[in-house]
Amino acid sequence: MLSANLGFPRIGKDRELKKAVESYWSGATSEAQLLEVAAHLRAEHWRLQLAAGIDSIPSNDFSLYDQMLDMSVALGVIPPRFATLDVTHLQRYFLMARGQAPGVQLPHEIKALEMTKWFDTNYHYLTPEFEPNQTFTPDATKPLAELREAQALGIATRPVVIGPVTYLSLGKLRSATGDRLDLLDALLPAYVELLRQISTAGATWVQIDEPILATDLSDKQRESLVAAYRTIAAELPQLNVMLATYFGPLAENLSLAANLSTAGLHVDLVRGKEDAASLVDVIPAGKVVSLGLVEGRNIWRTNAIAALAFAQPLVDQLGADRVQIAPSCSLLHAPVDLDAETDLDDELKSWLAFGKQKLAEVKLIATAILGPDDATRAALEANRQAMISRQTSERVISPQVQGRVAFVDEHMQRRRSSFPQRRSVQQASLGLPAFPTTTIGSFPQTAEIRQARAKRRKGELSHETYVATMQAQIREVIAFQEEVGLDLLVHGEPERNDMVEYFGESLAGFAITRNGWVQSYGSRCVKPPIIYGDVSRPRPMTVEWIEFAQSCSTKPVKGMLTGPVTILCWSFVRDDQPRSETARQIALAIRDEVEDLEKAGVRVIQIDEPALREGLPLRKRDWNAYLEWAGDSFRLASSVVADETQIHTHMCYCEFNDIIEAIAGLDADVISIETSRSDMELLDAFVDFRYPNEIGPGVFDIHSPQAPTSESMFRLLTKAAEVLNPSQIWVNPDCGLKTRKWEEVRPALTNMVKAAEAARQSL
Ligand code: GLN
Ligand code: ZN
Repeated sequence: MLSANLGFPRIGKDRELKKAVESYWSGATSEAQLLEVAAHLRAEHWRLQLAAGIDSIPSNDFSLYDQMLDMSVALGVIPPRFATLDVTHLQRYFLMARGQAPGVQLPHEIKALEMTKWFDTNYHYLTPEFEPNQTFTPDATKPLAELREAQALGIATRPVVIGPVTYLSLGKLRSATGDRLDLLDALLPAYVELLRQISTAGATWVQIDEPILATDLSDKQRESLVAAYRTIAAELPQLNVMLATYFGPLAENLSLAANLSTAGLHVDLVRGKEDAASLVDVIPAGKVVSLGLVEGRNIWRTNAIAALAFAQPLVDQLGADRVQIAPSCSLLHAPVDLDAETDLDDELKSWLAFGKQKLAEVKLIATAILGPDDATRAALEANRQAMISRQTSERVISPQVQGRVAFVDEHMQRRRSSFPQRRSVQQASLGLPAFPTTTIGSFPQTAEIRQARAKRRKGELSHETYVATMQAQIREVIAFQEEVGLDLLVHGEPERNDMVEYFGESLAGFAITRNGWVQSYGSRCVKPPIIYGDVSRPRPMTVEWIEFAQSCSTKPVKGMLTGPVTILCWSFVRDDQPRSETARQIALAIRDEVEDLEKAGVRVIQIDEPALREGLPLRKRDWNAYLEWAGDSFRLASSVVADETQIHTHMCYCEFNDIIEAIAGLDADVISIETSRSDMELLDAFVDFRYPNEIGPGVFDIHSPQAPTSESMFRLLTKAAEVLNPSQIWVNPDCGLKTRKWEEVRPALTNMVKAAEAARQSL
């Protein structure tokens, strides 16, 4: 039985790629040095897959920044503002990615391609930009180079490209009218030429990814898929295409996918388990089927015996020679190597598998399915023991937590009074002016702050010194806000490395890895905590810091928490209970913290939910169920307080049109959102839907080092006041200030307060 892989993480086990790319950007190293590290990583990863016994090893899954950007380059989709520049190939590549490149000085700013989330993962890709009369010019340099590089190492690979319909569907047409799918006719010859060159260079199979098949498809998308693969098959009869789908069940698209003119079909049987039932019926005779049995997006060890039992009937019916065993999707979304986790205990480690370990699982299943030998039997037995240990461990199940969850009822998820009633009590007790000013929470994370946290982690700083250092920071941040004249203060979050990991470190049921990094975008990696057991809060997590901050001022200081949905979305979650159940447990833990903050005299508590929107399922039909439990979790976490206590929430993005009712349903007293970058246009959602509570549409973009003028912010407030009732409006930046410098923050907030004063005068 053949084993296959769909893609390997490219960052390297010690984030070598991140370091090499950033060092190149900074000018410290040359292009040649960067390319050498990249080649080294590819070779290492190919050898690793070969050593794991994987038969079909991918190439062109590597990227210096992003595979969608690579695809745009391979198809000649280079917007004119980049195409016309006199720069090197690599400089252009990074200009498209980030609007800057080493050695390039442009007279004016150049806008990078837009970045968007890759389906429902935390990976972000660069959006292709199509001109109205976009043409496509194939450039096979990268796939060919990687194919040959592997060949030179004696490794035959299956090159990966993103499929034409997914590629077009994820792109953006730079004109108000028209349909990007209409570009298919122009695009296909470029694809065919690209694939022809790959085939001529010796690839017998290619993997073409069409994850769009796991979403709700329009008729036009379906027709495009049929047309695209018919053309590719007709033009390149000698090339075998493994059409790869992943991230969810194909469901009503299964028959379509199965009948596209390709030699093979890969299905995600972890998230799309239900597809297995009709797979054999719809698959045409002779087509190769790749069974995605090992979860590519999470960190749990596969239950090998269960996977075998699940796959056996499929293999029996299809015939072993037509089946490949694979991960559910590319391993891009998994950390690289569990062996590096020297701090995790052996029991927990025995429940986990990262990228490298997942390859071994794929191989184990592929080997065992045809009748195990002794070594395989031993590996299966070890796997079985690990499964039993996880299922029965007291670390996983907590009767107290389960008992508490069972007693959650409606009234725990509702504030005591309606918003208008709460509002008048809060106004009386907080005494804030109209157009109250505040910030989203974090202040610049200076080198001093980061060093103090790092030293503490390494045990080089005593608890007392650490606390004193952080308190000094907090005192400064408070003094600064008073000086600038902000109305509602924050402590600045100096003690937090990351808004999810910080809470993961304190909550029971969570484990933090040392090196479990996953690429988020470009050189940016995230290290999600692992939720392995029932979640509870052994002790207060933030109270002392907030109490201290409040003691420094007579103005109200906000308590700052991360919400249950965001903690869930940005962690590796359990696969042995529904996400909604885990969210509810986290909500109860946050609720405890909210209660303690209130007891400590904190009058305003902000519970950030920037990930609420991105948690939306791929299929529209699943949205309502998600929004219901996500909303319940937020309300469960926040509704414990008295009417006087003001609950804030914050969300970064504001594409709210389709979920605005659910957002309003959270019933936060105040929500702050990102709007400045869209010139308040994102508030359009609020025209038809009268948002009932208070709202702070961000008045400046925290991503830009440029300090906004008070006039520009006043103008945005004027725009906001056209859509909202002025008495609803708060004045705040788009997001937290932790990536900014103090010299940027000072003028920005000074001007913001001026803008609020002007608004009080005239709006
Ligand atoms: N309170 C967090 C901060 O200010 C919110 C960050 C976020 O929305 N991603 O940094
Ligand atoms: Zn934000």
